[in-house]
Amino acid sequence: MRNFIIFGPPGAGKGTQAQKIANEFNLHHLSTGALLREEISRQTEIGQKVQKIMDQGGLVDDSIVNAIVKDKITQNSQGDGFIFDGYPRTMAQAKNLDALLTAKALPLVLNLEVEEKELMERLKLRGQESGRSDDNEKTVKNRLRLYSEQTRPLLDFYARQKRLISVNGQGTIEEVFQLLRNQIK
Ligand code: ADP
Repeated sequence: MRNFIIFGPPGAGKGTQAQKIANEFNLHHLSTGALLREEISRQTEIGQKVQKIMDQGGLVDDSIVNAIVKDKITQNSQGDGFIFDGYPRTMAQAKNLDALLTAKALPLVLNLEVEEKELMERLKLRGQESGRSDDNEKTVKNRLRLYSEQTRPLLDFYARQKRLISVNGQGTIEEVFQLLRNQIK
């Protein structure tokens, strides 16, 4: 089993690259954002709890996302491994994930580097095209701030453990994919 985390700020292209890597290497793509949006559209109890937070660009409680991830890992234990997308976002989540996977394989982190100015432009465009309700200017600012404060510090944690690979995320989708693929092989 091989596990990966696709890492980077909102708008870095994590979802797109995670999908391509999952196809190429036969991994389960586990996106907490997508799973949470599914809870909202099914109007489950969890969905009702998280809707407002997500619309404001806040972070959902660690306990909620940790439970979702644990369920998914247990349900999909066959296959070659996982690529986690949008998770972990806090130190508590990072430690939880390592604890869940420790007997199998600790995930390697694939970090997409994209400048802030480019992120703002991409997210604005995505908001117009996809209609995702959290891709508006105010929410985007909040998400980028939370990324800097809570999520980016995880890079140090992974770098110290020699589990971090960073690539330039500003090329085309194919260019970025080739960079990642070369690192994984
Ligand atoms: P993006 O990377 O563009 O922010 P995601 O789909 O990963 O998009 O996340 C959308 C929203 O879902 C986040 O702004 C947050 O509210 C919530 N969310 C997703 N994953 C997590 C997580 N691991 N911890 C807390 N909240 C999360």
